[in-house]
Amino acid sequence: MPRARRNVRPWGRLVVWAVALVTLWVLPAVITAPAYVLGCRLLQGDLREMADAAVQIFPQALGIEWMPVVVALVIGVVGTSARMLPSRGTRDRTMMRMAPNSFRFAMPKAVRITGRSSSITNSFVNGIVPIIKPSDVEIDEALEVLGMSDVVVCSYCGDDATEWDHLRPLVQHQRPTGYIHEIHNLVPACGKCNQSKGNKHWREWMFGSARLSPKSRNVPDIEARAAVLERYERWTRPTKVNFAALVGEELWEEHWSNHRALLKQMKAAEEVVERIRERIASEVKDAVEPPLIGVPNQLI
Ligand SMILES: [Zn+2]
Repeated sequence: MPRARRNVRPWGRLVVWAVALVTLWVLPAVITAPAYVLGCRLLQGDLREMADAAVQIFPQALGIEWMPVVVALVIGVVGTSARMLPSRGTRDRTMMRMAPNSFRFAMPKAVRITGRSSSITNSFVNGIVPIIKPSDVEIDEALEVLGMSDVVVCSYCGDDATEWDHLRPLVQHQRPTGYIHEIHNLVPACGKCNQSKGNKHWREWMFGSARLSPKSRNVPDIEARAAVLERYERWTRPTKVNFAALVGEELWEEHWSNHRALLKQMKAAEEVVERIRERIASEVKDAVEPPLIGVPNQLI
């Protein structure tokens, strides 16, 4: 449909418009005049008289039916003017075409096996941290403290919230901090912020230069958002668990010895990857060294 409409020339469109307006005006009068005459009993039987009456009534009917024409005219003029204004989407697309340094290409990053070490550590902690499900009353209270009783948004940047993120990290220096999965330690967040924040302290990360941090994304009102988060921290004291004391030294040591063994295995696997990559690089022309993700040597 839009394609067909674009192909009609402007003058052609005007003719169609004028015909439509005239039809809107004249057609009801054409119907009204004979309808009136047929409905008038006095004239029934005399066709000539009926025709004369219809002709007399027609101009009067035309006079009555002009109102819808004016309304249609106003709607048409307003609608056409609105369409002539450039839409926001068109403006954005135009700006993208004009900005030569906007996104053009991004080389996907090669991920190393040892680059997954922090995910492994997170799993070793996440899997043992207890989960306390909040009641509806607690959720309401948390949202009230955050000033989000009506609309729930990301606490760090204000974008749409898609998850609840741990305000205080569960993992630090490859060990559990003691904080657990409970509402006192969770705030609504967007995926971007959750990914970027990782295990960092929320304030250092918010005002730091990490990729996609609120500061590096120039999020407005960042101070006000931090003040709300401070209020949330003060709302109630979070649970802190001493895992080693709770499960006993022996079981605790077994858990972390599994962790060490796994990271060691990953490092060994990465060394094999390295040898394979060197051989491939000597065969594949123009291959470049992939950027290193993760800090494998500091992990063991
Ligand atoms: Zn966010």
